[in-house]
Amino acid sequence: MPKLTPSMSPVGPIAPLLIALALLAPPAGAEPGVLAQISTIDALLAGVYDGPTRIAKLRALGDFGLGTVNGLDGELVAVDGRFYRVTADGLPRPLADDDLTPFAVVTTFELKEHMVVPAAIDFVGLERVLDRRLPSPNLFYAVRIEGHFKHMKTRSPQRQTPPYRPLAEALKTQSVFDLDDIEGVMVAFRCPPYVKGINVPGYHAHFLSADRKHGGHVLDFQVDQATLAWSELTELRLLLPTDAAFEASNLGGDKSQELQQAERPEH
Ligand code: ZN
Repeated sequence: MPKLTPSMSPVGPIAPLLIALALLAPPAGAEPGVLAQISTIDALLAGVYDGPTRIAKLRALGDFGLGTVNGLDGELVAVDGRFYRVTADGLPRPLADDDLTPFAVVTTFELKEHMVVPAAIDFVGLERVLDRRLPSPNLFYAVRIEGHFKHMKTRSPQRQTPPYRPLAEALKTQSVFDLDDIEGVMVAFRCPPYVKGINVPGYHAHFLSADRKHGGHVLDFQVDQATLAWSELTELRLLLPTDAAFEASNLGGDKSQELQQAERPEH
């Protein structure tokens, strides 16, 4: 066995430093201001619950995001580069690089502005505040809301098995969680109205508790104390799946009502 010379050595005083720098650096290919999206919301509404995109690909595209995983087996939420799925039992579990997603939205979060969220505000109230605050209705925004919530209402779907039914049907068996007095972070996006069919026009939020024991797709909430930071996104990068399920799905017609039912039924 050849003896390692110092320059070939994988360890040494420099190695921990290089590892630390690698962890701090944004992943290769990730750019602030870009919203990277896998597939379309209408494909998900149509029941395309399996896709060929690996979580490793999402990690390369950003550190902040939401979506779902293959088989509709949980709500995907990504914060600070850590990707989780919140399954129907309400528990967040770390995603592996080889796990797959049929639909996801990610960005490299870059703080543009931050503010304190008014106390006692709910989802609709926060929408009003942000609608006044965000510079343009025609750009995309990633919004991070972090703090203590008096109440957080989330949901997670049951894992589906083929043949897949449309999302509105599949969500009839979703789990709903009413979480009181909880600390955590909301990962939200506001998309412009013209994304209809591609993404969710308006607000879409997922939640992850600080203790990483709860989470899901946000149905409603009430803030106790929280701060909010937003990032402006001016480039949409749409990555379409190249598998039979997506290619053969019927994406004609207007699915706005199904979207409303699936995303914010009480809104
Ligand atoms: Zn969602």
